[in-house]
Amino acid sequence: MANVFAFAETRGGELRKAGLEAVTAARQLADATGGGEVHAMVAGAPGVGGVAQKLAEVGADVVLVVEHPALARYDAETLTRTVAERVKSGGYRAAVFSATAQGKELAPRVAARLGAPLAADATSVSAEGGAIVVKHPMYTGKVIGTLSIAASPALVSVRLGAITPAPNAKAGRVEAVQAVGDPAQSKARVVELREGSKGKVDLGEAPVIVSGGRGLKAAENFKLVEDLADAFGNAAVGATRAVTDEGWRPHSEQIGQTGRVVSPQLYVAVGISGAIQHLAGMRTAKTIVAINKDKDAPIFKIADYGIVGDVFDVVPALTQAVRAA
Ligand code: FAD
Repeated sequence: MANVFAFAETRGGELRKAGLEAVTAARQLADATGGGEVHAMVAGAPGVGGVAQKLAEVGADVVLVVEHPALARYDAETLTRTVAERVKSGGYRAAVFSATAQGKELAPRVAARLGAPLAADATSVSAEGGAIVVKHPMYTGKVIGTLSIAASPALVSVRLGAITPAPNAKAGRVEAVQAVGDPAQSKARVVELREGSKGKVDLGEAPVIVSGGRGLKAAENFKLVEDLADAFGNAAVGATRAVTDEGWRPHSEQIGQTGRVVSPQLYVAVGISGAIQHLAGMRTAKTIVAINKDKDAPIFKIADYGIVGDVFDVVPALTQAVRAA
């Protein structure tokens, strides 16, 4: 019976939703491969181990805590060494990461260090005949590929929002793990961190995203999108590249092939045509609502609900309805 490793992301000592999703995916893999243990690693400044209970609640049997003052910020070199060492010595069948900006750096580094295969950006994980089976979008999301990995350990990164954390309480025994090497000696150091839009819901973690396109005509009309997002209460604002290229919204809000990849519960596309490069970033959303005045706009092909109409009429009415609900 083989165990499965998960790297659970934290930020500022707080567990990120991505971390819970990675541990949930690891739990699914452990159960599918014979019911082994899930060992979840968290790394950060002293005190980060305080998140252990939350990881136990979604299926971690053991929480590996790496605490070091210099790990208050993400440090790729130290984490690569520490994770790789643990995955190697732990004899894990699989190791799960998050396909976040951090995970997209960490997972390939660990894979290269171990000479192990990596299936990136998974939307589901399972096992069949001893192999780890991963589904992931390919060709900007036009097809869903199924990868079967016989090699061990199989490294997998899971797309944000694709795996829903489920209660599955385990012991969550805490084990302290030493960082491998001195983080203070890392060749690359983070010297400054500029916070993005503070207090707003993070695009990657938001259950609802209201996203605007060129159909809004001008930067100031994004007030409509912001108002609808506010009405939901837990929504983030996204945008197309046409919009970020115009400078109407910051690049950090761009969704798509060259922007963020998101999988919220609800994605509301406002005045967006549905170009393939935009769909690459949002087509795995659970429910898609599109508002466009052109009934032939490609976005309607993937929308669950479509409203053919002018955004300047439809969005204020929708905002009012959501507020009243
Ligand atoms: P448009 O395509 O101009 O669509 C505007 C839509 O608004 C139209 O469908 C129109 O009918 C509708 N509309 C207009 N007025 C109204 C109104 N009053 N009421 C209702 N509807 C209205 N794009 C991304 O989004 N993300 C990416 O990451 C990305 N990466 C790219 C990478 C490459 C290499 C390339 C070549 C392109 C990339 N693009 C990306 C650009 C992409 O091809 C499209 O140009 C872009 O997504 C279009 O944005 P849009 O839908 O806002 O604008």
